[in-house]
Amino acid sequence: MLDLLIKNANIITMDELSPVIRGGSVGIAGGKLVFVSETVPEAFSHEGAKRTIDAKGNIVMPGLINAHAHTAMCVMRGYADDYRLDDWLFNKIFPIEGRLTREAVLAGVRLGIAEMLASGTTSYSDMYSNQPAAAEIILESGLRANLSNGIIALSEDFDIEADRATKELAALIRDWHGAGNGRIRADASIHAEYTSPPWVWERVHAAAAENGLVTHIHLCETAKETAECMERHGGKTPVEIFSDHGIFDTPAAAAHCVHLTENDMRIMAEKGVSAVHCPVSNLKLASGVANVKRMAELGINLALGTDGCASNNDHDLFEEIKLAALLAKGTSLDPTAVPAYEALRMATVGGAKAQGRENEVGRLKPGFEADLIMLDVHKPRLQPLFDPVAAAAYAANGSDVCLTVVRGKVLYENGEWTTIDAEKAIAEVQRVAVPIVLGKK
Ligand SMILES: [Zn+2]
Repeated sequence: MLDLLIKNANIITMDELSPVIRGGSVGIAGGKLVFVSETVPEAFSHEGAKRTIDAKGNIVMPGLINAHAHTAMCVMRGYADDYRLDDWLFNKIFPIEGRLTREAVLAGVRLGIAEMLASGTTSYSDMYSNQPAAAEIILESGLRANLSNGIIALSEDFDIEADRATKELAALIRDWHGAGNGRIRADASIHAEYTSPPWVWERVHAAAAENGLVTHIHLCETAKETAECMERHGGKTPVEIFSDHGIFDTPAAAAHCVHLTENDMRIMAEKGVSAVHCPVSNLKLASGVANVKRMAELGINLALGTDGCASNNDHDLFEEIKLAALLAKGTSLDPTAVPAYEALRMATVGGAKAQGRENEVGRLKPGFEADLIMLDVHKPRLQPLFDPVAAAAYAANGSDVCLTVVRGKVLYENGEWTTIDAEKAIAEVQRVAVPIVLGKK
């Protein structure tokens, strides 16, 4: 018997064989997709399902994948806006982060998860501190996540064994990699080229290679970052120097990729590095616009990320989807650049690949994990519905999500969360995090 049957849906499968199914059905059992088809297959039409949802023409699509986030930063949402990246990071963000308690970070994780579930994110890659504790919250919430703590080694006498990110990586590998039947994965992480020396990268990468982890990094976010790297490393760009040190010899997910040379892009394509496009954050911090069109032409896997909420200021991936398409068109003066389907692909199939989950999620296809969302199209902004793909990419936003399912389990439905108390999460952030951000604690 099926656990969940969704009928009468306009399904965006993201599966190349039949990308859109009008008025179709999705059957779920044991957390997996059993069928995604025009009609309920004969074998299942009699035995029924524990629960049947009539989608009434709503859009059903794969859950969105946020391939670059710093979830707990949502406690600083709207606190420090409209600054230059270096001023913002070193003078506004880092001093507060130095004071954030474990309690405050975890409150941020809960708030961020509530927001992600309500706006259609079913899996995310997070780079932040306190990840082993965050993993417990994620496990309970039912979400999927790749967790890492980006290593930062700015002092001359940096002790890698005593370093917190090193210890958290070890704990994630030991206790959490593959937890929840694979819902949680550990990533290795180098915060960025400018925050640690090559010997540190090599140590982190060795852990990635040994344990089969994705290496999550920030890469070429600003022109200044690339210029200063070239000065430090004899004219080599961050991509070239990371590549020289073997960091891209195993799967890597690189956030931003705004200031890349043609050679950088060719290296990334050859090494299979995923580029995680974060258009909202890049625009807000005036870092520039990644050349997504060229990266796509070279066959680089493209994913989308919100980055932290201090530079976004939300976790709504629908904004990133629309901007990914519009920026590529606007900067290339080519309206055919990054069509709607390709933008959705970045938030689903591309994100799954960046997370090392390409055979698990990102498509609605039998055998894949049942991670899906439903968009309520019965509202003025989404009517008429000529093309579900265009509606999802260009007209929808996170608040149109009326159902979020991960591994067959309903985690959010019509304004209600089933695994997390959103009201409590908001109150907790007010109580334990806001006073710290304001410098009152
Ligand atoms: Zn970031």
